[in-house]
Amino acid sequence: MIREVREHIGDDSRVLYRPMDNLLLPPPWHRGRVVLIGDAVHATTPHLAAGAGIGIEDAIVLAEELAATTDLDDALVSFAQRRWERCRMVVHNSARLGVLEAAPGSEPDYVDVQAESYRLLAEPI
Ligand SMILES: Cc1cc2nc3c(=O)[nH]c(=O)nc-3n(C[C@H](O)[C@H](O)[C@H](O)COP(=O)(O)OP(=O)(O)OC[C@H]3O[C@@H](n4cnc5c(N)ncnc54)[C@H](O)[C@@H]3O)c2cc1C
Repeated sequence: MIREVREHIGDDSRVLYRPMDNLLLPPPWHRGRVVLIGDAVHATTPHLAAGAGIGIEDAIVLAEELAATTDLDDALVSFAQRRWERCRMVVHNSARLGVLEAAPGSEPDYVDVQAESYRLLAEPI
């Protein structure tokens, strides 16, 4: 189908093309009683289709940490510590897949990065 569509794209076609971007904010993710989760601290390119997934995980881990202590600051520090490496991995590996997608002959590397990412995402949060 993509090949068929491509045949109809010409100089007068209106093609919407925008670069993909990401955001990875190092902790702390809170100040006082305010904490950021989800895309606000780790927006990823779409190559792993995991942005919403890690956002939902943030909410689960945040609830666990808040339930585990009465010290709010401790809870919010522990929350970001638990989330950082996993979210960093998603943003980093997703961007890497984007680069590999555009590089001819990079399929083996692409498969490796994708498989490693899904293996890590299958680990407990
Ligand atoms: C095209 C596309 C496809 C995607 N596909 C996938 C996928 O397959 N799998 C996956 O896991 N992820 C996917 N994602 C990523 C996923 O959508 C995001 O990672 C996820 O929605 C982030 O959730 P969030 O709650 O952090 O932010 P958002 O979903 O952006 O929610 C933020 C909310 O805050 C509101 N808001 C903003 N400013 C204010 C304000 N000043 N006052 C009040 N409200 C405000 C916004 O309107 C919005 O509703 C996709 C994203 C896109 C764009």
